[in-house]
Amino acid sequence: MPHRILLADADAFYVAVARLVDPEGAGRTPLLIVGGSAEHRGVVTSASYEARKFGVHSAMPMARAVRLCPDALVVPVPMEACGRKAREIRAALEQFTPVVEQASSDEFYLDMTGTEKLYHDEPLAQTAHRMRETVRLATGLTVSIGGGTSRVVAKLAAGVAKPRTLAHTGRSDGQTVRRSATGVDRPTVRPSDHPLPGTGVYVVEPGSEIDFMRQFSLADIHGVGPKFQERLAKLGLRTVDDALGRDLATLTGWLGKRAANWLYQRIRGIDEAVVAAHAGAKSISRDDTFSRDLDDDSALDEKLLWLVDRATSDLRAGGLLARTVTVRLRDADFTDRQASHTLSRPISSDRAVLTEARKLLARLRAARRVPARLLGVALSNLLAGEVPAQLSLLEPETQGSEDTPKDRAIAQAIDELRERFGRDAIARGRTPD
Ligand SMILES: [Mg+2]
Repeated sequence: MPHRILLADADAFYVAVARLVDPEGAGRTPLLIVGGSAEHRGVVTSASYEARKFGVHSAMPMARAVRLCPDALVVPVPMEACGRKAREIRAALEQFTPVVEQASSDEFYLDMTGTEKLYHDEPLAQTAHRMRETVRLATGLTVSIGGGTSRVVAKLAAGVAKPRTLAHTGRSDGQTVRRSATGVDRPTVRPSDHPLPGTGVYVVEPGSEIDFMRQFSLADIHGVGPKFQERLAKLGLRTVDDALGRDLATLTGWLGKRAANWLYQRIRGIDEAVVAAHAGAKSISRDDTFSRDLDDDSALDEKLLWLVDRATSDLRAGGLLARTVTVRLRDADFTDRQASHTLSRPISSDRAVLTEARKLLARLRAARRVPARLLGVALSNLLAGEVPAQLSLLEPETQGSEDTPKDRAIAQAIDELRERFGRDAIARGRTPD
């Protein structure tokens, strides 16, 4: 039986939340940019569709964004409200299936497999439309929903479902804008291929995955990083269609067994990764596919710092604590490896998570020391629990992988600075190139 996977992705999430919390100011201004202040070398977290027309996009230095769009109102990221809204979206989605996995601050995978009888064989697209309306009524926010038999298809379908303006300007809701080798923001969609794009829901029917995938470039597929793109381009493979024209033996000869298998499956819309199978398996993760393979321990440690920083701020923005830390590595030859550790007490500070993540990375590197193409950090075994506002001074300081009152105070201070000045106002370590 084919899987039925949906991806619900909030539309211009940070901008929409900023408008909800300040209806008289941000709510009334078409030209709105959310992010850090130009004076503090902040960057754009997200911009309204109107501001994007001036060339403003996420991850752009705010000073440049303000030059491009001088009439825009710039407001800081409403971090706390974003966490609250993300929880509300999730609660609305959980009315439809218990299997909801939060993939980023505003993206949720849902596994609807086996719910057919529950919904009296209603077409999945129709359920998705009801879901969208439920989220809108509960939260005041809109989501775009993509569907299909796998995560890779659902993710690309959500890009097609986005309002037209967004489909053409790429992701700008706080995610790093990835640019493909062709210089086009992903996901690239040829509008002419879709009679009804941008209606908020797009479901790819089982059996039509390959036809659906044909319209994308290889760079649109999550996990095809800049270096892999370059290698594929040298082989004449730029689009999914190019790669579909090659058999597995040819791809294996060119790319090696693992990379060939991985690509061969993705371009056919096949992705065996499941949506967190039960409520306890919810996780928050961050990964980074490098522009070149990394073998240097200090370079990998810098990436690890950045990933932990991002994952723990998502964790705290969601009002969550984690007990399990997982580090994932993809070796240069596409071998995927991971190591996890579950702690007796839940943590949320970047220092405590980093301590644990470093041990795990060292263990993976000791077992096999080859250049890495991807590094990821996942936090799971999540518990709801706010960082206490009043820190107990009597709580003993602990060493290693436990949050200390000091850790929590530092984490809270970082969150507050970011709320005032934007996500990139403060960072431990360097941001990736
Ligand atoms: Mg979004």
